[in-house]
Amino acid sequence: SRSFKSHLSDDIATVTMGNRIAAIIEQGAVIYLHGDLGAGKTTFTRGIVQGFGHTGKVKSPTYTLVEPYELERANVYHFDLYRLGDPEELEYMGIRDYFSAQAICVVEWPEKGGEFIPVPDLNITLSYVGDERNIVINSASERGSVIIEKLNN
Ligand code: ADP
Ligand code: MG
Repeated sequence: SRSFKSHLSDDIATVTMGNRIAAIIEQGAVIYLHGDLGAGKTTFTRGIVQGFGHTGKVKSPTYTLVEPYELERANVYHFDLYRLGDPEELEYMGIRDYFSAQAICVVEWPEKGGEFIPVPDLNITLSYVGDERNIVINSASERGSVIIEKLNN
């Protein structure tokens, strides 16, 4: 199957879903996060980063564009491109170096990056359901399909 869906009734459920993804994904994975402001993208990323062993805070890299987490199990790079003006800025910050075969890259507002960011393995969309959230995870590569299959089993 190419799609996984779930209801997330509170922020803990969002973090737990991120933990689940962290337990499945492998180095080299690229994840795009879609959804309105406040939909839970950064909360979900916290689940991924903490799932890889990070114990401190996870802050939104709104102004810095990227927050690196260089952990024992993997390097996780959290991007938030919301405030990116010109996608060409990504070339100057050496975007290619982050998307290595060893890294996990999680990208909020990927559409702002245009063609300067690599294609994803997973497209994840968070949406509002009243005060709660839904999550839809779609595979965008063979590697992504394997992840979806594991989530559905
Ligand atoms: P985004 O990065 O998409 O802008 P955030 O992750 O910063 O959104 O989340 C915004 C708010 O939504 C936070 O207060 C967070 O605790 C809350 N939140 C996250 N997941 C849920 C959920 N499943 N149900 C209710 N609130 C949630
Ligand atoms: Mg955010």
